[in-house]
Amino acid sequence: MITRFAPSPTGPLHLGHAYSALLAHDMARAAGGRFLLRIEDIDSTRSRPRWEQQIYQDLAWLGITWDAAPMRQSERLPAYRAALQALWARGLLYPCTCKRRDIATAASAPQEGAAPVHGPDGLVYPGTCRDKARDAAAPLPEGAALRLDMGRALASLGVAPDLGFEDSGEATAAQARIRLTPAALRDGVGDIVLSRRDFPGSYHLSVVIDDAAQGVTKVIRGADLFEATQIHVVLQRLLGLATPRYHHHRLIRDAAGKRLAKRDDARAIAKYRAEGASPADIRRMVGL
Ligand code: GLU
Repeated sequence: MITRFAPSPTGPLHLGHAYSALLAHDMARAAGGRFLLRIEDIDSTRSRPRWEQQIYQDLAWLGITWDAAPMRQSERLPAYRAALQALWARGLLYPCTCKRRDIATAASAPQEGAAPVHGPDGLVYPGTCRDKARDAAAPLPEGAALRLDMGRALASLGVAPDLGFEDSGEATAAQARIRLTPAALRDGVGDIVLSRRDFPGSYHLSVVIDDAAQGVTKVIRGADLFEATQIHVVLQRLLGLATPRYHHHRLIRDAAGKRLAKRDDARAIAKYRAEGASPADIRRMVGL
């Protein structure tokens, strides 16, 4: 078993991260497997070296060891570009010039009929740029947002593709097989952005490529990413990558029942540590 913890260095790790990291670490150790670390620093406007250093310190203090040098997504651009190029050449991507506001307006336009649908990646894209001319023989466009043409992508997988994933997390019945239908993917997920204007990639693309590159066999992460997994399954199939098993765990909430966010510095691991808590205390606080 190979598990991983994949934090973004955009703030201090809090109790929710501790739970995710400890769970992934413990599962790998219990199975005699490997635990890997990946720094998801593709958002250069929010990522900071000091948060990355803090991640290493917090994890080490928690007693977590990782079995290889951490992978850093900011160093993985060639891999992301190669995948985008392959999808582009198959005619499965198109450039999109819509702004957030354009999408909201188009999605709620009366002539569209139904109410706007929210997918795992925000409003389901109404398709404004989908039918503009695209030339798959041309080089991959740089500096443009690129969307996956979900309809074409699914059609390229055959008539009735068997899409789904195993999930052993509390968010679902243990070891459930989650099935995905092309209709639900088209209507409820739609044409997601796979490459941003300022970066050749996106969370969804990079997470899929890097989980495969690190040989991850079990992805352990919060239930907030459960819905996004359907995107990851489609991308794995399109890119010829194996779908790992998943374990979407419960979210750690504050006393008011709100899930913890990076900005909740009050729950930062470093803060508890400074106040004299032990790693065992942290384990207890997250219910381990
Ligand atoms: N980098 C993501 C985060 O910090 C986690 C991604 C994942 O586990 O797939 O929220």
